[in-house]
Amino acid sequence: MGRFTRYLIHIVQPTRCIGCGKVVYSHQYFCSHCRTQLPHIALGECPWCGKNDQTDCNCENDFELLFPCNAPFHYEGCIRQGILTIKKGTETRGAAVFGKIMANRVARLYGTDFDGIVYVPVTKKRLRQRGYNQSRLLAKAIADWLDLPLLDNALVRLYDAPDQHRSSRHSRKGNVFGVFEANAAAVAGKRLLLVDDVFTTGTTINECGKMLLLADCDSVCGITLAMAKPAKNTTNDQQEQRMV
Ligand SMILES: [Zn+2]
Ligand SMILES: [Zn+2]
Repeated sequence: MGRFTRYLIHIVQPTRCIGCGKVVYSHQYFCSHCRTQLPHIALGECPWCGKNDQTDCNCENDFELLFPCNAPFHYEGCIRQGILTIKKGTETRGAAVFGKIMANRVARLYGTDFDGIVYVPVTKKRLRQRGYNQSRLLAKAIADWLDLPLLDNALVRLYDAPDQHRSSRHSRKGNVFGVFEANAAAVAGKRLLLVDDVFTTGTTINECGKMLLLADCDSVCGITLAMAKPAKNTTNDQQEQRMV
């Protein structure tokens, strides 16, 4: 494509900042303001409490995670907006750059010694309605960057859960039980990287990982683009949830 053609396309359909929607140059993903406001999670920093995740905190246990999980960003500000934009289907360019950042985090944290990349699936019905699954878009981008196979038939979602961002923490907990099925033929004996867009309560990614482990995969490491900071009463919530 020539420079002039690109220019014309930019005029008709300007490139926009993934974070705030401001018009940017066609090679840019974020405007200069959003670039400086990205809510990074440092390597080695606990995403939930901000302390050193190896020595000073026990948060992974609080979430009852069956495998390690990490993310390069907090779920706030322009990252939150960026994910919403991807979900609305108005921006698929974001997946490429987000996937690159996630791949970089994976390589530094876990290494790249995986047999395949899997992702949290949506139901066939949801896929037909929306046309794509944003977790698959991210997983595909990571697979491309790390040159690893994307395993499309590893997990199946049998039912739609209620909208996770609207339902309360309590109804969210447990509403994914029995929702996912893992394909043992595709995953047995494999070291897997499991991808999702946002980690909120961890229930969804944990359930997917559990099904993969039950299907005899060798190991699971989790990566999401963003992690939500827990609400203030999280500890109480989780204590109560354990009692029921
Ligand atoms: Zn912006
Ligand atoms: Zn912590």
